[in-house]
Amino acid sequence: MSAPTGMTADTGTGTGALLELEDLHVRFGSPGLRGRGRVLRAVNGVTLSIGRGRTLGLVGESGSGKSTLGRAVLRLVPVHAGRVRLGGRELTGLRGRELRAARRDMQMVFQDPYSSLDPSSLVGDSIAEPVREHEGLSRRDAEVRVRELLEVVGLPGGHADRYPHEFSGGQRQRVAIARAVALNPSLVVCDEAVSALDVSTQNQVINLLEELRSRFGLSYLFIAHDLAVVRHIAHEVAVMYLGNVVETGPTDRVYDSPAHPYTQALLSAIPASHPRRAGTGTRMLLSGDLPDPANPPAGCAFVTRCPFAMDVCREVPPAMTPVDGGGEVACHLQTTGPVLAGRPLDAGGVRVGRSGGPDVVPASVEAP
Ligand code: SF4
Repeated sequence: MSAPTGMTADTGTGTGALLELEDLHVRFGSPGLRGRGRVLRAVNGVTLSIGRGRTLGLVGESGSGKSTLGRAVLRLVPVHAGRVRLGGRELTGLRGRELRAARRDMQMVFQDPYSSLDPSSLVGDSIAEPVREHEGLSRRDAEVRVRELLEVVGLPGGHADRYPHEFSGGQRQRVAIARAVALNPSLVVCDEAVSALDVSTQNQVINLLEELRSRFGLSYLFIAHDLAVVRHIAHEVAVMYLGNVVETGPTDRVYDSPAHPYTQALLSAIPASHPRRAGTGTRMLLSGDLPDPANPPAGCAFVTRCPFAMDVCREVPPAMTPVDGGGEVACHLQTTGPVLAGRPLDAGGVRVGRSGGPDVVPASVEAP
């Protein structure tokens, strides 16, 4: 099938970074108790990039800041400091009409399709809305485009005359994807886009996203708490903890040789029964909850839950350091400790043998 009108098939010539985030900070203020202001550091100095036609998986616990980061990319939340560039164009200072025009090139797919579909409108009208607004198409031409887009996402064009509630969950997500790609964006932020679907429907929607990426050269920022799903779709992975990116790298390297203790814990928590689980690694459990992002620990953000914490971790924030096999990790073990990074824990704990850290790490605390 040819590309729908207005969409451009990928020529395979795109190279280099499409999205670049540089030292990005997002903060929210709240009045706090007794009038004392609290500043919640939701995203704390994130530097990342996504290549053209690539998928970056962004993972972390609920509250790690990954959804806020996705919204900051589209400037749906205010950016406190740092830079966002798309295709080399600085977006951080854009306002009003310029920002609305720039958003045409980046779209979002949410976990709940109703976030982008009006339940009281025919899906054809919901898909046509951005097309008519940005391209000024006539009603007739917009109808033709909508039918083409529905077919691209695997739905009959005639379904344009239905309401969202007349679709299954997977079909509704296909409609939301059709709306997201209607303006031929270069970047789509998928925020838990398949999390509410059963595994079989997840597979179908992921395959659709893959097909669209390959046909139209899309790039995805794929935000998910399900690490098994991310392994399936992402070329590269970034792991977030308490507003910080603590590890990045090619997907196979991160999953096969996680360098950060937090990444190791997240990966070990994939249930053995998960249909997409790879390997038979031993469960590594973490104690405690995510600290208050308005009052993060000094030094390493993970220090209050890390079984390997050393004195230096309580004082000095670890810098991102290159990892063998690609990517970077923010952990003092990478630079000051023995080479633990890149090696998963064994069943009885890991003998690390360094001053200031535990000799034997118990593998028996609470799940993340
Ligand atoms: Fe753990 Fe220290 Fe590494 Fe942070 S820097 S993850 S506390 S070992």
